[in-house]
Amino acid sequence: MNDVDVLEWTLAGYAGEQLAEEAQLLNKTVDYAGGQLIFQDYGVVVIEPAAPGTKDVVFSCAVHGDETAPIEIIRDMVQGIMQGEIKPVQRTLFLIANPAAIAINKRFVDMNMNRLFSGAHADGHTPEHKRAANLEHYVTAFYNDAPAGERQRFHYDLHTAIRDSQYEKFAVHPFTHGGPYKKSQLTFLAECGVTTMLLSQSPTTTFSYYSARTHAAEAFTVELGKVRPFGQNDRSKFAAAEQMFTRLIVEHELSLPEFDPYRTKVFDVCRTINRTVEDFTLHFPDDVANFTAFEQGYLLATDGDTEYRVERAGERIVFPNAKVALGQRALLTVIDVSKKRLQLV
Ligand SMILES: [Zn+2]
Repeated sequence: MNDVDVLEWTLAGYAGEQLAEEAQLLNKTVDYAGGQLIFQDYGVVVIEPAAPGTKDVVFSCAVHGDETAPIEIIRDMVQGIMQGEIKPVQRTLFLIANPAAIAINKRFVDMNMNRLFSGAHADGHTPEHKRAANLEHYVTAFYNDAPAGERQRFHYDLHTAIRDSQYEKFAVHPFTHGGPYKKSQLTFLAECGVTTMLLSQSPTTTFSYYSARTHAAEAFTVELGKVRPFGQNDRSKFAAAEQMFTRLIVEHELSLPEFDPYRTKVFDVCRTINRTVEDFTLHFPDDVANFTAFEQGYLLATDGDTEYRVERAGERIVFPNAKVALGQRALLTVIDVSKKRLQLV
């Protein structure tokens, strides 16, 4: 039982393959030193410590199926728990979000799953719509099943980016609807090696916004580096993040260094540029890194007859992708935020 690879199990089960008897884990509960692992669904594993702490922690990966490093991290954390090397004291939910996309080594099958949360899954009938709805259901059940009393909810949705980045690791902070930002999260993420934060300024249909808005979780989309195939990730680059994710669930009181406002670069989302017509072009090379700044007036994109130029000094590009479906985001621009303006608690 301890040798079951949760990723292989998920892919085989999701594909409907006949599993060997020792891999028949669906709906099963397995003991670990300190609690139980519950295999709720393929790619859905709940950790219930016998004497749980006050945190409910969700780690998700493979919302984009070809972003392998986070999948390896989660596979190994689950493996570590099964083998008794990691002993969580905090309730934890591990999600391998899109097994069908992993199986074909693609970002997604029919639809970008990170646009299908907060109810957007009701607008279609692809397997990704259905899976997004199920994932919301599992997250809701996980948070609601927590013991009574004051609790803290977390959700780290782990990704890797398609292109290079001037800041290798960064997180997207979902829109807070005017709420403050947490120093403890900036510090935790900095300890993970994530020292760049991008503040979203509007509601979205991403997984992290869903958990933040619907469940009041401290939730983030975390970009841990660049996309590579399975087995080609340099895991040493992710070691700090892996160590912090593990500490978050095995320690009762996670001690962090004092908050240092100069540790994290913070950007506001300035503009979202959508592709609305077939004739859409980005006017910079494919290998331009995320967070590259262009001069004011530079033509960034044309969407049919509409030109998008750099409007503000210091405006930088993030997540460019000219090949998105019509109506979807092809480019974000971001701008530096003064820490003095940021409401921190
Ligand atoms: Zn991604």
